Amino acid sequence: MFSESTLNEIRSRFDIVDLIGRYVTLKKSGQGYQGLCPFHKEKTPSFHVHPAKQVYRCFGSCGKGGNIFTFLMEYEGISFPDAVRRLAKDVGVRIEEDKAFSRPQQKPVAPQQERALKALEFAGKYFHFCSPRSSVSICLEVLRKPRAFKKIDR
Ligand SMILES: [Zn+2]
Repeated sequence: MFSESTLNEIRSRFDIVDLIGRYVTLKKSGQGYQGLCPFHKEKTPSFHVHPAKQVYRCFGSCGKGGNIFTFLMEYEGISFPDAVRRLAKDVGVRIEEDKAFSRPQQKPVAPQQERALKALEFAGKYFHFCSPRSSVSICLEVLRKPRAFKKIDR
């Protein structure tokens, strides 16, 4: 897994408007920017990017939202670790992967309990990726794929 400081470092070096601007034509609108949503077909722009919060959100039919990591995941169809690695490379951040985070549980636990613990663990880890107003589906998407992270992050 990636350490908290690595993720923060990457986030601090990116402006979400610049990043999304590479893929979507954005126009200034009020306190943010808007453009045509890259995740669903539309003719009038309902895709908003908020520089102050560093989040994006579609107010159209797909309702997607999130931050720089989730944008890249969704847009490129890649996993969370891949998105992190790509953004890190882009800004020259060295990745420290937090081994402790993926260490197995000390006590044997029932599969269901384990799943609940894992969910909590991930919720804690990824909660800050989702602003209170961003789409719940993004957060759920991240939580639903803990195994994918483990497999790749050894
Ligand atoms: Zn959309």
